[in-house]
Amino acid sequence: MNWRLIHFAMPTIDYVVAHELAHLREMNHSPRFWDVVRSVLPDYERSRGVLKDDVLPVFE
Ligand SMILES: [Zn+2]
Repeated sequence: MNWRLIHFAMPTIDYVVAHELAHLREMNHSPRFWDVVRSVLPDYERSRGVLKDDVLPVFE
């Protein structure tokens, strides 16, 4: 693992964690769900661009 991969991975991991935490509050992808994500990670949209939502585990 080189520094470039670490640089890429950290915001992505933050986004995945924030996303999964938000699903504990909202078991869907409604606007309220994204409000929860934003409350945890205000710049989540930047990290979200790296990962497509459908590669994440889904609860719904
Ligand atoms: Zn989700």
